[in-house]
Amino acid sequence: MNDIAHNLAQVRDKISAAAARCGRASEEITLLAVSKTKPASAIAEAIDAGQRAFGENYVQEGVDKIHHFQQQGICTLQWHFIGPLQSNKSRLVAENFDWCHTVDRLRIASRLSEQRPAHLPPLNVLIQINISDEQSKSGIALVDLDALAAQVAELPGLCLRGLMAIPAPQADYEGQFAVARQMAVAFEALKTRYPTVDTLSLGMSDDMSAAIAAGSTMVRIGTAIFGARDYTKN
Ligand SMILES: *Cc1c(COP(=O)(O)O)cnc(C)c1O
Repeated sequence: MNDIAHNLAQVRDKISAAAARCGRASEEITLLAVSKTKPASAIAEAIDAGQRAFGENYVQEGVDKIHHFQQQGICTLQWHFIGPLQSNKSRLVAENFDWCHTVDRLRIASRLSEQRPAHLPPLNVLIQINISDEQSKSGIALVDLDALAAQVAELPGLCLRGLMAIPAPQADYEGQFAVARQMAVAFEALKTRYPTVDTLSLGMSDDMSAAIAAGSTMVRIGTAIFGARDYTKN
């Protein structure tokens, strides 16, 4: 087994253990492999190990990888855009990705909807919540969620699937769980109003267990699968 296959198996075991501890089925939680800055060869190893969903933060880098695997005839992959999105890059996301986790304003949502090609299914979108109210982070406040969700749900090129957050680091499990529960409560409420909503993208390496216990349905893991990132090569 290569390193990436080994790491993936370990991460999957951790997800299963965290799910079992709170009485959830591990199938309820999707593992998103965050492959930003990693070469296509690393993604290919993960694909060989059975991974299908990949997360990318930089638009052009992600599009290059998507095209690479399309040219190889590998069409069963799911590509998630998880980075901050500028308006001038929205077309590339709309035309190439399957999901966008970082919708946080109507302007970007409208553009994604208009730019989504008609031959593709609607782009799956998550509304990003700035749950820790950090100035440096994108995302909206929870009080603004209902208004934006109502607008996004009307856009024909998009399918509203749920919520995403990147909570500020917490000192302990209890702190992580408390923040994750705030997200889960908002997610459950949204779900009752929109039948397409089924995804809470929450939990990274350090807070995965608390996020799963609180109700996350998708965890985003990079380093634990692909190793440390080297930004000097970009
Ligand atoms: C990079 C990134 C991750 C993965 O982070 P790791 O520390 O490598 O596991 C998850 N979510 C988002 C939004 C990211 O940008």
